[in-house]
Amino acid sequence: MEIAIIAHDGKKAEMVQFLNEHSEILHQKNVTLISTGTTGSKAEKAGFKVTKFLSGPYGGDAQIATRVAEGFCKMVFFFRDPLAKHPHEPDIFMLMRLCDVHDVPLATNPATAELLIKAL
Ligand code: PGA
Repeated sequence: MEIAIIAHDGKKAEMVQFLNEHSEILHQKNVTLISTGTTGSKAEKAGFKVTKFLSGPYGGDAQIATRVAEGFCKMVFFFRDPLAKHPHEPDIFMLMRLCDVHDVPLATNPATAELLIKAL
């Protein structure tokens, strides 16, 4: 199962904490992690194997949106920072829209992510 992880800068620490708390599930053989560039680097430093795409502002969210649209990515953990401005806002909305179009579970905050991962 391909799972995307993306965290805005103000939420990267929470993402790493979330990954560490659920490392057992996320290290399972049938789980493949994909991510935007910087989030992926942080996850790698925490010991996770991740396929990294471009950094978010350079198109990483758009690349992950493509994985969702093409049916490869089956779940998205996207810890958004609602208190920051993002130059790639259109890409962020595209990713969220495509999750809705293709009925792919999307968690935009740690509390929802917690509920989703329990369903795995
Ligand atoms: P990043 O991108 O992981 O490369 O920081 C995340 C984003 O801003 O969408």
